Amino acid sequence: MASINEEVRTHKYTLTEDEMPTQWYNIIPDLPAPPPPALHPGTLQPAGPEDFAPLFPMALIMQEVSQDRYIDIPGAVLDVYRQWRPSPLFRAHRLEEALGTPAKIYYKYEGVSPAGSHKPNTAVPQAYYNKLDGIKKLTTETGAGQWGTALAFACALFDMECEVFQVGASYDKKPFRRLMIEVFGATVHRSPSDLTEAGRMLGADPRNQSGSLGIAISEAVEMAVKDPDTRYALGSVLNHVLMHQTIIGEEALLQLAKAGDTPDLIVGCTGGGSNFGGLAFPFLREKMAGKINPRILAAEPASCPSLTKGVYAYDFGDTAGMTPLMKMHTLGKDFIPDPIHAGGLRYHGMAPLISHIYELGLMDAESVPQTECFKAAVLFARTEGIVPAPEPTHAIALAIREALKAKETGEETVIVTALCGHGHFDLTAYDEYLSGNMVDEQVTEARFAEALQNLPQVPGQ
Ligand SMILES: *Cc1c(COP(=O)(O)O)cnc(C)c1O
Repeated sequence: MASINEEVRTHKYTLTEDEMPTQWYNIIPDLPAPPPPALHPGTLQPAGPEDFAPLFPMALIMQEVSQDRYIDIPGAVLDVYRQWRPSPLFRAHRLEEALGTPAKIYYKYEGVSPAGSHKPNTAVPQAYYNKLDGIKKLTTETGAGQWGTALAFACALFDMECEVFQVGASYDKKPFRRLMIEVFGATVHRSPSDLTEAGRMLGADPRNQSGSLGIAISEAVEMAVKDPDTRYALGSVLNHVLMHQTIIGEEALLQLAKAGDTPDLIVGCTGGGSNFGGLAFPFLREKMAGKINPRILAAEPASCPSLTKGVYAYDFGDTAGMTPLMKMHTLGKDFIPDPIHAGGLRYHGMAPLISHIYELGLMDAESVPQTECFKAAVLFARTEGIVPAPEPTHAIALAIREALKAKETGEETVIVTALCGHGHFDLTAYDEYLSGNMVDEQVTEARFAEALQNLPQVPGQ
């Protein structure tokens, strides 16, 4: 048993509301090469703003292709952000002690938001820009339910309707998220549903019964394009979503400076890439400017490893093939991941912007099996007192791997990670782990290969 520590240390680095950044950061103009454009699936020509107009308001479409390095956060959005922002940056002293590592571990905690994750950082501006356009309803998909919760909250604030297609596996396992979405006033459907053509068609295949984010996106997109007063909102993947999340990294840069540390490693989990990009891009800007030199590392699940096992190719964002084609790391739109607990990481593709930055060699990726993640999460909970959502446990597991390497070398490595959500609605996953019933599914090479067979044919790619 360790002895009692009487030292009073600094655990939490905060900012005043006035110190909070008031702009989002757009990394695209700072990159050494521009990301490949999205393509119209019929003509295979670069998709123009009009191709996205049935889905998104023009303000967001313009942000998607913007060359401005900074975009002002509207007052109405900042006002909502201030309810929980700036979010705290914690130094994980007790976790470091338990590991016996000389590494310093910091985590930026987004679980303090009303939805319990980073998702409201983009849900609020997305609802705001749609409201400005006179839109009455937003549709969307959700996995574990974090994004559905965030969008339902944002729609409630701006007095809009919200309809959510939830991945079947999560709908069945996680009723409390669904109930929270309903408390915020939104409607939830189990996907695949019989409310849409895509849902009926894809739901006819028994292998699709547990659903996937790709299928739920098809349903939500179909419902939005059929009604001029309805639009669609995406919780990750797109450039504007990643940009909204940069408030995380901008705050963390200021907070880490207050702590007097320079990062050696930035590590975050990647589902579609938004919390990772949100934390990492402002640090990457400083790195490209030669001011700091951290390694930037994405943590992905071994069951759905789009960066480490996928190909870099044009693919659809959804399973029915309704979206424009995006060049991204993909496992193929037909890949149905095993129903692991990190529902937010069960997406066949990776943000085109993250994929591009990965291809440019500006970041690395590693995959982690879920039992290692939960082992790390339980240690984290028992030392730091926060029960993490299953998704960020992937980043915690990699942070721990690195901290243990630092123990070998004796280096005082500074690690910064995004604790992008709490796991209060994911306790059944912890139950499975604690009772010894959690398994690591092995995805065969044949299954990866099969899903890649149907990639759309794009000449010259
Ligand atoms: C949605 C979600 C994710 C995955 O999405 P990203 O866009 O990759 O961030 C990860 N963690 C939590 C808590 C989420 O809600």
